[in-house]
Order: sequence, then C-alpha cells, then structure tokens
Amino acid sequence: MEATLSPKPHFVVIPWPTSSHIIPIVDIGCLLALHGAAVTILTTPASAQLVQSRVDRVGAQGDSAGIEVAVILYPSVEAGLPEGCERLDHVPSPDLVPSFFDATTRFGDAVARHCRLMASPRRPSCVIAGMCNTWASGIARELGVPCYIFQGFSAFALLCCEYLHTHKPHEAVASPDELFDVPVLPPFECKFARRQLPLQFLPSCSIDAESLQELREFELAVDGIVVNSFEELEHDSAARLAAATGKTVLAVGPVSLCHAPALDVSDDATRCMAWLDAKKAKSVLYVSFGSAGRMPPAQLMELGMALVSCPWPVLWVIKGADALPDDVKMWLQENTDADGLADSQCLAVRGWAPQVPILSHPAVAGFMTHCGWGSTLESVAAGVPMAAWPFTAEQFLNEKLIVNVLGIGVSVGVTKPTEGVLTGGSGGAKVEVGMEQVKSALEKLMDGGAEGEDRIRKVQELKAKAKAALENGGSSCMNLDKLVQSVV
Ligand code: UDP
Repeated sequence: MEATLSPKPHFVVIPWPTSSHIIPIVDIGCLLALHGAAVTILTTPASAQLVQSRVDRVGAQGDSAGIEVAVILYPSVEAGLPEGCERLDHVPSPDLVPSFFDATTRFGDAVARHCRLMASPRRPSCVIAGMCNTWASGIARELGVPCYIFQGFSAFALLCCEYLHTHKPHEAVASPDELFDVPVLPPFECKFARRQLPLQFLPSCSIDAESLQELREFELAVDGIVVNSFEELEHDSAARLAAATGKTVLAVGPVSLCHAPALDVSDDATRCMAWLDAKKAKSVLYVSFGSAGRMPPAQLMELGMALVSCPWPVLWVIKGADALPDDVKMWLQENTDADGLADSQCLAVRGWAPQVPILSHPAVAGFMTHCGWGSTLESVAAGVPMAAWPFTAEQFLNEKLIVNVLGIGVSVGVTKPTEGVLTGGSGGAKVEVGMEQVKSALEKLMDGGAEGEDRIRKVQELKAKAKAALENGGSSCMNLDKLVQSVV
C-alpha cells in the first residue's frame, strides 16, 4: 500500500502594504520555506515585483519551490486613491491616509475570498499578518488556524507598548515634555516624554479612535507574535513580552540575513557601490532615514552643512528631494555629488539605496539612522555602530535600546518627533538640531576614542550572535522550526 505523505504546513503571509513592512515579512516567508513549510505570500499588482524579487533570491539558494506569490487586486480607485497607489509610502498626501485604510479593509474581503478557495494540499495551516491587517484574525478563525501578527517593531518596543497599554503612565503627566519611567527592562532606566511615544499614545493622533481600538483588538486576538530580532539581542525582552501578553513570541531574525546581500541593477545601486569601492576601509558615514522619512527643509540644511564639512566621506540618502524648495535643491547640487564622481566627499542619493549591501560594505564605519527597526537590525547584522536620530513612531524607544541598553550607538539628542515626516513639514518648521550638535554626535560616532572602540566591539559581538542565531541550532533557527512544527 502506498504511504500517504502528509502535506507540508502551509503559511499564508499577508504583508501590511508599506515597503518597510513588505521587506521583512516576505523574508520571514522565505525563512519558513527554507525550514520546510509551504508559503503563499499575498500581495498586490504594484508590490508583486518587490515580493517576487526577494523570493527569487531564495531560489538562488535552491528552495523557492515552496513559495507561491499570489497577486490580488487592490481597490485603490474604489477607495478614492490614485490608480496604482497600493502602498502606504506611495500615498501622495496625508489627507488620503484614511482612504488607504479603507482600501486595505476592502482588500481584506478579497483576501478572505481568496483564502476560502485554497484547497488541499495547500489548505492554510497558519496566517501571518502585517500590523494593520486587522481582518486577518477573522480569516484565520474562519479557516480554523492560528494567526500570528508581525508588527515590524523590536521586542523591546512592543514590550514598552504593552506596559503603556496596561499602566498608562503617559496619561498621568502634566505636559508632553515631562519624562516618566517605563520600567520594562531593569536595571536599565527607560524614561520617555509622551511626545516621543508611538502614535497611539500621543494626546492627539492622525488615526481615529475607532481604528486605534481595532488595531488593539487585533493585537489581543492573535495567537502569537513574530518578531524580526534574535533572542540574544534585546536581553530578555521577547520572554518578558510573552509573559506580559500571554502569547507565544518568536524572534526569527535578523531576517535580512536570509539572503546574501544582493544588488538591484538600478543606477542608484550601481553608483552607491562604485562610490564605496573607491573609499578606504572603515572611513565612510552612511546617512539614511528609512523608506520614506523626510525632514523640514531648514533642518535638512543644518544636517547637510554638518555632513559636507565633516572629515569623513558621506553617503547620504534623501527622500522627497524633488519636493524641496529650489534654494535647497540648488545648495544640494552645489555641495554634494549628485553625479557620482568617484572622488567626491558627499554622495547624495535621491532614490532607493541598496541599504543592506551598503551596510555590509567594508568602507562603511558608521550609520546615522532614524532608528526604524529594520534599519537598526540591519546595522547590527552588519556590525556597524549608529548615531540615533529618531523621527517618529516607536523610533525613540529603539534609540533607548541602541544607546542605553546595548551601548552600540550615540544619541544625536533629538527630543521631539520630526514635523511632517512623510511630507517634509511646512516650510516654516523650526530647526531642532543645529549643525554643531550634529557634528558633535558624528565625532563621537566616528572618532569616539575608548568609548567608540567599546561601541564597535559590542556591535561586532552582536553581529556574530546575529549570524549564529540563524544557523543550525541558533535561537532564531529553532524558533522557525518551532513555528513550523506548531502547525503540523
Ligand atoms: N531601505 C532601503 N533603501 C532605502 C531606504 C530604505 O533598502 O533607500 C530599506 C531598509 O534597508 C529597511 C527598510 O527600507 O529594510 C526601512 O525600514 P525601517 O524599519 O528602518 O524604517 P521605515 O521605513 O519603516 O521608517
């Protein structure tokens, strides 16, 4: 008699549609496939190429066979968005953000219809959903399978958020500047001002109360939390998060290490790498504020003046450069290398930089970052110390982890969120960080004497632990196995 092979466990991965979430959650899908699972990644036409290109890179390692990329139409126009606007970072104006949430809710109906039709042997055994896909827990319940959430935050930031939800210390302060304790990781002291907290804890927030409630209900409804991190990194934040939430918490990263750093063939990518190749080892400062982060023009000028006058070659990624006032554009043209001359001191990149290959290039010595968790972890995985310039969301929490808990970075000393982070703010927005303050943080980062050496030693140790976490027997490797086995 022929033995019946039981089908592989099948994970349905549903990214929250914004670039910096799609990247790591697709990598989680790739890692699950490398651990023997079947994986379907649900995406939309405008993101299909981004998703497929990451899946294909796993194929180069010999195992993309288990991954299917299913494209479902995204109802942009029906929700009042421009045609093809299928990612939050592509929404042209903040007024349209509610329409984007509306489109994503409608997309959830299409996802549910798609999942109902998935038959054996690819019947779903588990759903992993991005942070705002609140309908995903309902789909999982209907299918009778567990649902995991992927928020893209560090375990430490999620732990802080859980504390804030439960104890509400931010509601007891007299002003948004008053510091209060978030004692989640003793003996480290973690103090924040209310204005430095993620959006849902601010006194007024661009997301309405009903949507915030829905997001929280989704967090409470899921069976577990998948984190792009590794257990050795954030002290015992993941275990404490599990205890605080009563949910399974699995750290499975750094997911960027699931591929060898690969370059797209864009002009920006080629120019960045050629420019870096011409620089001395450990000489370059890399400056980037995530997939979409912008600062007001006056603040950008202070940063720019510090960057062009510092003694290190600088690779500076600028988002929204087309929307800058003409005088700032002119200044950039005259003071940075827009054309990629190999011997220039400051290369300004206005498009999409190949961040993971940049961070692992031997010329790079330091990273000025907005402390987005993807960037932070990529820097750790490459062993590069950081200068922390948080903009918004949970980035002030990550700064605390980088600077005070892990000792692998210096603080630029930003105290409040950046105005108009997706739009560049109003022309009149004030400068918070002057040129001298930026220079002093950069000196500490790039030339920090014994303290600088100590930061480098610590981040190099974490780099080795990051790699080991994903190898056979490593903590992230075992957590991936645990996840796959839990749904067999
Ligand atoms: N990224 C990139 N090139 C860019 C800008 C960003 O490759 O020019 C990638 C970066 O490597 C990271 C993600 O985009 O994977 C940014 O994620 P993060 O969580 O740091 O910040 P967010 O964009 O969510 O603010």
